[in-house]
Amino acid sequence: MGNMYDSWSPLQAVLNTGPHYVLDNQAIWQGPIDEFGIPCRIAAPLRAEFDIFPQEDGLLVRGSVTGQVAMPCNRCAEEAVYDLAQRFDNFEPLPSLDENGEPATDPDVDEYFIRFSRNGELEVNLAALAWEEFAQALPPRPLCREECAGLCPSCGTNLNEGACACEKKIHDPRLAKLRGLKIH
Ligand SMILES: [Zn+2]
Ligand SMILES: [Zn+2]
Repeated sequence: MGNMYDSWSPLQAVLNTGPHYVLDNQAIWQGPIDEFGIPCRIAAPLRAEFDIFPQEDGLLVRGSVTGQVAMPCNRCAEEAVYDLAQRFDNFEPLPSLDENGEPATDPDVDEYFIRFSRNGELEVNLAALAWEEFAQALPPRPLCREECAGLCPSCGTNLNEGACACEKKIHDPRLAKLRGLKIH
């Protein structure tokens, strides 16, 4: 368990056990979901599976994050359930040291995934990678279904369950103008 940001391992030790890795400890995802207060429930176990191939100046990381999540629908707030099948194929550049022997700033380096340890060795955080790919796979505007009718803006009735008694008026001022337009 523990915070995912503490799950660092020496790169060489990780590579020695590769190239295939499977991460299925739900705490990898549940931890940050709780920490950041993300409105997301793990509906079926998540699993990250990937291969890491070292290159001269970086790592090729290929794999997938799969599972199922439930999030509140963007229109009606009921649970929207999503099957995740996020595939990724990334080149992760290695960080480098500047002339003072300090880690150089490089915007291309994913510092949550790879960094120098205090004794100057490269280390990686596989859990952070599994989290990042998961976070990217989450839909920005979840919908319980494509044609969700949402809530009535006046009374809050879930219009998927039936109509409400509110009068339906068109409030768009541009349309109101058009209706008043006389055609000569
Ligand atoms: Zn909905
Ligand atoms: Zn209504």
